[in-house]
Amino acid sequence: MSEVFHCGYVTIIGRPNVGKSTFLNKILGQKISITSNKPQTTRWHLLGIKTSLTSQVIYVDTPGLQTKYNNAMNRHMTREVMASLANVDVLVFMIESMKWTDMDEHILNLIKDRSAPVILAINKIDKIKNKEKLLPFIKEVSSKMGFLKILPISARKGDNIDALENVVKALLPEAPPEYPDDQLSDQSERFFAAEFIREKLIRKLGDELPYRLSVSIDQFVLEENILHINANIWTVSRSQKKIIIGKDGSVLKAVGEQARRDMEGMFGHKVFLQTWVKVKKKWVDDIQALKQLGYHH
Ligand code: GDP
Ligand code: MG
Repeated sequence: MSEVFHCGYVTIIGRPNVGKSTFLNKILGQKISITSNKPQTTRWHLLGIKTSLTSQVIYVDTPGLQTKYNNAMNRHMTREVMASLANVDVLVFMIESMKWTDMDEHILNLIKDRSAPVILAINKIDKIKNKEKLLPFIKEVSSKMGFLKILPISARKGDNIDALENVVKALLPEAPPEYPDDQLSDQSERFFAAEFIREKLIRKLGDELPYRLSVSIDQFVLEENILHINANIWTVSRSQKKIIIGKDGSVLKAVGEQARRDMEGMFGHKVFLQTWVKVKKKWVDDIQALKQLGYHH
């Protein structure tokens, strides 16, 4: 048994829909569903943490890299993606087999001058009908930059996933683990779900917005490719609750719809969002309750 421990960060980058989240869920052996209710830091990304006896691989999913929604939040996230490219040990660039799009080209340009080694993962090989076409495709994409390794995989079926994990592990520096060995994720998607709702409330209500307001997420579960998110909007009085709900529920409905669209853009899944407005009289003065609500300002 080796006594040397390896730990490091691996960014999985690729255009939406190539299979990044499927890959992450596959290697973690389960969908990342969130159960604790700790206050979150302002990290945009989703970590998938895979710990073995000799290594801890901290995968960084990059759900925010898309160009469809050009709002401030997305610009912020794109900056964060860029930062995450600079501070990782390995990059896994994921594309879809037999496809090379403008967005793939765009990402290639973001990563090709980075110092971290880049592994090209060609996903969805299970979809290829004529397997003889794969080799010419690999040849074509291999000329685009100096990839350390090119691996055809199927995130869905699990083909070649072990091989990819082993390549990644071998590239990590010697270091102690950063997270407890039973931690699978940093759970930040839950934080963002709450922030999207808060952002829409702020926009919709402006000056009317109750300043004593907080959003907590008590369910965040991916099932059959649909994210089921339950959110509570907490306020301190019945009159404030009425403002948030609006006439015939109009405010809450609009807020929910807009927040849901942002969530779908960021998380890359259909979202089923349910929101409740609740009154909790004393929470503003109660540190413990504040923490429970994930309040962070
Ligand atoms: P992301 O946007 O890159 O995170 O992509 P997702 O992981 O959400 O996957 C997008 C779609 O591709 C989903 O419908 C997945 O089920 C599907 N998918 C992912 N990996 C594979 C694969 O290896 N084979 C096939 N056939 N489909 C896949
Ligand atoms: Mg994803």
